[in-house]
Amino acid sequence: MSYVLGLRCRECGREYPTSVVFVCEYCFGSLEIAYDYTRIKKVLTRKAIESRPKDMWRYKELLPIDKAPTDGLNTGFTPFIRSHNLAKVLGVKELYIKDDSVNYPTLSFKDRVVAVALSKAKEFGFHTVACASTGNLANSVAANATIAGLRAFIFIPADLEAGKIIASSIYNPTVVKVEGNYDEVNRLCSEIASKYKWAFVNINIRPFYAEGSKTYAFEIAEQMGWRVPKHIVAPSAGGSLVTKIKKGLQEFTDLGLIDKFDSKLYVAQGKGCAPIVTAIKEDSDIIKPVKPKTIAKSLAIGNPADGYYAYDVVKKSGGWAEEATDSEIIDAIKLLAETEGIFTETAGGVTVAATIKLIKQKKIPKDESIVICITGNGLKTQEVIVNKLVKPLKIKPNLHSFEEEQKKRPTSDHYSI
Ligand SMILES: *Cc1c(COP(=O)(O)O)cnc(C)c1O
Ligand SMILES: [Zn+2]
Repeated sequence: MSYVLGLRCRECGREYPTSVVFVCEYCFGSLEIAYDYTRIKKVLTRKAIESRPKDMWRYKELLPIDKAPTDGLNTGFTPFIRSHNLAKVLGVKELYIKDDSVNYPTLSFKDRVVAVALSKAKEFGFHTVACASTGNLANSVAANATIAGLRAFIFIPADLEAGKIIASSIYNPTVVKVEGNYDEVNRLCSEIASKYKWAFVNINIRPFYAEGSKTYAFEIAEQMGWRVPKHIVAPSAGGSLVTKIKKGLQEFTDLGLIDKFDSKLYVAQGKGCAPIVTAIKEDSDIIKPVKPKTIAKSLAIGNPADGYYAYDVVKKSGGWAEEATDSEIIDAIKLLAETEGIFTETAGGVTVAATIKLIKQKKIPKDESIVICITGNGLKTQEVIVNKLVKPLKIKPNLHSFEEEQKKRPTSDHYSI
C-alpha cells in the first residue's frame, strides 16, 4: 500500500502523477514526492516503528514506493554513538556521531538512497540502472544492482580514489571512467538518460532516490529517544542530504512522533569545492559553480543540483557553514579515529574539521547537543592518509629487537584544538 500522492514542483507547486519525471514542465523546477500524511499518521506510531526490523524500511510509509521494498533490506539503522572522548577534546557537553561509515552493503549513506531508487526502478519496469557518481554512489549502485539482478552502468570521474573504483568494479558492472570532473560526468549522463531507457538513480528518478536520505534523520530522532539535537553538522556534495534531514525531521514533527524542533543545520565542504558554504557565508541565494580542487572527492561537486535548497534550509534553521582544507581534513580523520575508533573517509574529515571550527567560532555553543554526520568509510580513501601515519615497528623475531625498537617509537602527541 502506498501513501504517495504523486510528485510536486518545489517551485510552483504543480502536481504530477507518479511517473519517471523529475523537472516541472512549466517552470523547470525540480520535483519532490508528496505524501498523504493524514493517512500515514493513523498507522505510523512510535510503537509501530519500534516493533519493526532494525533497518531503514521501518519508516516505509514515508518512502516513495508502492509495493513491498525489494532492495536495501539490511540497510540503515547504523550506530548512533554518544561520544565521550571526542567530546572531551572539543570541550563540549553532549556530542553524538551518526555513523554511516558502516552502512550495509557498501559502507556509506548512499546505500539508503540506492535502496529506494532500485526498489522504485523495478516498480517502473527498468532493467538497467545507472548513475553519475563521485564514488560512493557508484559503489552502492554496483552492489545493489547485482543483488537485484539489474544491469548497471557506472559513470565516474577518471581520477577517483583506487578504493572507490575497486569497490565498484568488484561487482562487475560496466564502469565508465570519464576524463573530466563530476559536473562533466553529470552533464554527459543527462544526455545519455534522455536517449537510453535507463534509470539514472540521481537524474531521472532523483525525486524517489533523494527520499532515502530522510531515513538518516529519522534514525537520529529515534535513536536519541524520540528527540532531536540542537545542532546537526552534515557534509554536502549535491546538497540533497542536508535538505532531506530537514524534511525528515519536519515529517516526524507533523506526524507527532517528535516535539516541534528548532535544530540548527550546518553544511561542511572541502575548501576548493565549497559553493554551498560560500553562498551561506555571503548570504547569496545564487550558487556560483566552482572547479573542484580538494581531497574530499566524494563531495567534489562544483555545481550542486540542490545547492540553493541546501542554502535555504541552513539559513532558515539559523545554522551556518564551514569549509576544511586538505590538511585539516587529514587531521580530523586521525582525530576521529584516535578518539572514537571510527575510520572515516575524507568527507567525514571535512565534517569533523568543520564542527571544530564552528565550535571555536562559538557558532555552536559547547553546552548544547550536537550531532556529527559521518557518511563514509576511510578504507576507501587510504591514499590521503597512508603517508601521514606513524610507521609500524619493524623488528627481528626476538624479544631484544622488540624492546630496542619500541624505545624509538615516538610518544603519541595528544590532540588539542
Ligand atoms: C554523496 C555524499 C555526501 C553528500 O551528499 P549530497 O546529498 O549529495 O549532498 C556526503 N558524504 C558522502 C560520504 C557522500 O558520498
Ligand atoms: Zn513548477
